[in-house]
Amino acid sequence: MAWDDSRTMTSELSISVAEAASYLRDRYGLGVVEASVIGSNEDINVLAALADGRRVLLKVSHPGVSRGSLEAQNAALRWLAASPDVRLEVPLPCESTAGHDVEPWTDAARLARVLTFVEGEMPSPAVRSPAGHSRRLGSAAGRVALALRAFEHEGLPEGGPWDLRSARRVLDDAAQCVGEDGDTTADALAATLAAAEARMGPVVGELRVQPIHGDLTADNVVFDPAGDARGVIDFGDVGRGWLAAEIAVLACSLLQHDGDPIAEALHAAAAFDQECRLDDADIVALWPLVVSRAVVLVASAARMLAEDPTNEYAVARAPLERRMLARALSLSFDEAEILARAALGRLATPPVAVSPMVAGLDGADEADFSVTSVQHQADGWMQEGHLEVTLLRWGNSAGTTVTRYAEHRLTSRAIVETLPRSFAIGIDAVVREGALVRAPADGIVVSGGGARSASGDVRASIGVVLDGGATAWARGIEPLRAAGERVRARDVIARVTAGRPSDSDGHAAAAPQAVVGIGWCLAAELEPPGLVAPRAESLWRAACPDPSALVGREARHDPEQAPGDLIARRAAVFAAVQERYYDAPPQIERGWRHHLVDTAGRAYLDMINNVAILGHAEPRLTHAVAQQMGLLNTNSRFHYEAVVEFSEALAARAPDGLDAVLLVNSGSEAVDLAIRIARAATGRSDILALTEAYHGWTVGADAISTSIGDNPGALATRPEWVHLLDAPNTYRGRHRGADAHLYLTDALARLDALDADGVSLAAMVSEPIFGNGGGILLPDGYLRGLWTAVRERGGVCVSDEVQVSYGRLGEHFWGFEQQGVVPDVIAVAKAMGNGYPLGAVITTRQIAEAFAAEGSFFSSAGGSPVSCVVGSTVLRVLDDDDLQENARVVGAVLAHGLRALAARYPAVGAVHGMGLYLGVEVVNGGPDQPDPEAAAAICVDLLEEGVIVQPTGDHKNVLKIKPPLTIDVEAVRRFLAALDGVLERRQSRAAM
Ligand code: PMP
Repeated sequence: MAWDDSRTMTSELSISVAEAASYLRDRYGLGVVEASVIGSNEDINVLAALADGRRVLLKVSHPGVSRGSLEAQNAALRWLAASPDVRLEVPLPCESTAGHDVEPWTDAARLARVLTFVEGEMPSPAVRSPAGHSRRLGSAAGRVALALRAFEHEGLPEGGPWDLRSARRVLDDAAQCVGEDGDTTADALAATLAAAEARMGPVVGELRVQPIHGDLTADNVVFDPAGDARGVIDFGDVGRGWLAAEIAVLACSLLQHDGDPIAEALHAAAAFDQECRLDDADIVALWPLVVSRAVVLVASAARMLAEDPTNEYAVARAPLERRMLARALSLSFDEAEILARAALGRLATPPVAVSPMVAGLDGADEADFSVTSVQHQADGWMQEGHLEVTLLRWGNSAGTTVTRYAEHRLTSRAIVETLPRSFAIGIDAVVREGALVRAPADGIVVSGGGARSASGDVRASIGVVLDGGATAWARGIEPLRAAGERVRARDVIARVTAGRPSDSDGHAAAAPQAVVGIGWCLAAELEPPGLVAPRAESLWRAACPDPSALVGREARHDPEQAPGDLIARRAAVFAAVQERYYDAPPQIERGWRHHLVDTAGRAYLDMINNVAILGHAEPRLTHAVAQQMGLLNTNSRFHYEAVVEFSEALAARAPDGLDAVLLVNSGSEAVDLAIRIARAATGRSDILALTEAYHGWTVGADAISTSIGDNPGALATRPEWVHLLDAPNTYRGRHRGADAHLYLTDALARLDALDADGVSLAAMVSEPIFGNGGGILLPDGYLRGLWTAVRERGGVCVSDEVQVSYGRLGEHFWGFEQQGVVPDVIAVAKAMGNGYPLGAVITTRQIAEAFAAEGSFFSSAGGSPVSCVVGSTVLRVLDDDDLQENARVVGAVLAHGLRALAARYPAVGAVHGMGLYLGVEVVNGGPDQPDPEAAAAICVDLLEEGVIVQPTGDHKNVLKIKPPLTIDVEAVRRFLAALDGVLERRQSRAAM
């Protein structure tokens, strides 16, 4: 017999599998061949494999559980098994030899049952719901709920802690255990629950009460290999409760996932509704119950952890439950109900013919607020209220203006919110102040809320419920009719009022224009907001269709581009060897400083763009390029000032003696040229390089690129003129920690061996910091010792400064300064051009002249006027904005925060680097267990949180952290919080 002889709990209630096996033999006559304890929140469960091949589950309940409730559970299981429409397996009670299906446990204080085991797949806790999964879960829940409706049993419990009718009591009981920090304090939870109760108030009396499963989440459904729901398990919470709670519990659990969790939750509700129809009261109560469930989960976890801080289950669940609550609260109850009605298909149909609510807009210009709009200037879009200010400005100069329906807008919130409201589900129009708003058809007036504009005046909204139920809304108006009044088509119902935003130049205030928002809502009489988060978009479009007709315009029919279309086009023509970040990448079309913005209007923190050292869309650079492009762009054989100015600036930055500059277009070219120059200067051809390095794609630079992360065959395919030293990786390599100095000893021995083989080196080429490895610093004294030895042998020392120079290290402008050495040749690129193709070799006059012996050197675009203006401007902005100092200060905050995470999460093995050139080792145990899968998954999870990071290194397990040097402490905090959340949730899921 094979036992996993772990005990279920450390408390006195624990049982061993050996005890379980003898119990099964003695009471049930079952021969057990193998048994193991399986996790459960409250019961003790032992899964036993029987001699006849079946598996059964022995469940020993908590002392407080009554016999009656267990009998009710057993009866419910039999009831469901006998209900043909359920089409789901459930565990069935087995009878003991004495003919009972509930038996006392050996200690007599507890009760035991034996249930058949529902075989199938339990998907491990997923980050994302697989396609169609939520619908299958919703459908299963609907069938169970429908079948249980007619079930009766006097032992069915009611009013227990998971019955959402008891939510208030559960919260009160847990209140003193709930922490005082963060946004889930006892007071905050109480206020949240009160809001949910208030929302449900009008319908609570109508909610149907019946037997329900009570915990029908993805954790309690097993699937067949094809992904269909096969069975439902864990009926421990079966009892009487609100029918709507059955689907709310499932919907709430789906909110823990990434992707579009709100849509998933509502798709589950729709599938539930298909099986077990939800009525109007259920729909009103759905989201308040989702919120209540999340509150109960968060509060109960706090209580469990206060009682037993070692409760691993509660520890693991807590971050996911907090996430469910945050997600549930990301929508207002109105918004959630609108979406629920759309998901369930309970929408009104708008009338075929309507008349315009506001006249004179049929010929109005259309404003473009999309992410790619050239109408957004520099950072203007980041000002709060910029939309209104800009609209009014345009409206003033161009007459009336309207915005586009279903446009993803660039909004000021993008920079500060992970998922900003960027999707327009209405139309905004600039009209004359005082313009009249008319009823679009016969209907009844409903009034909405008042909203305070930037200038402080209160503007209200008004809706007209048309015959048939569709509601037409106007916002930014002064209502002239009262709620409940019947109006006829074209009756005046409101007047447009000025929402004069505080425009500093007084432009808007002087002109009698105002912004009015117009939109449809086909879900009850609810008032939708003008902008929603770019999630559940098809539901929003269904509930709030194009209101063009309400402003007297033709609806636009833009062919919608599915997100996959552009990827497919790219794959068709852009050779696949040129990799792409992410399987499902956001389409990034705009950048600003250390932010990248996708076409849905989400901004991501750019933590990897070391090239864009000044940040994206730097206005001084944009201006300088545009200006020079308009003047002249030619090659460096012509005589112009820019090339002189830039070469002087570079030489001035380089150490004394390095004052001959050659200009090219990229890092690869710079490294390649450095190799040629070293060869010309020495008359030799062999090069010494390091393993785990990357130097570029040209034939020469590629020859000394040894990273097996980039090229798995790299080490076996180097040409014979390349000689390699082991990368001095002090974290994972041969010599670690205090032994790091031995790398130099090894390297010198290797040079001796090369001497013995008759090899004469032209040069040693390396990065001064172990860049490709994730920013690991070279051992102290390494380059000093090695370069001395190389020079003694007549070789030239080349520093590849492509990644780590230009102040990124904070303490140093050049990377070699960190090692206290001066090279003979510098190869530099990337940051030089802030993304514009620009590279340089800087060397001594003597070496440059030796190279001249090979004939002239010419690069058509290298040193062009535009590239030189770029180069000079980058250096100037770097100085003007003190970005190297920013790298030092903000980099220290970042490194400190990352080290704090490393102390808390075993998955973070180490933090390498300095300044704003950092690497985070993702490991599974220690330096010798790099974890590339986890690193890749963390990057995908971080994308969800609005952060762009990618892994590097031979094992692709080091997160490279090298943002634009504009990054500030606020962004660093946001990044650290996102990484913290991702690591915490990963740990949670792994523990479950
Ligand atoms: N050297 C180093 C250290 C690099 O990191 C890179 C690019 N990643 C290069 C050279 C090549 O630069 P480029 O891509 O501009 O050709």
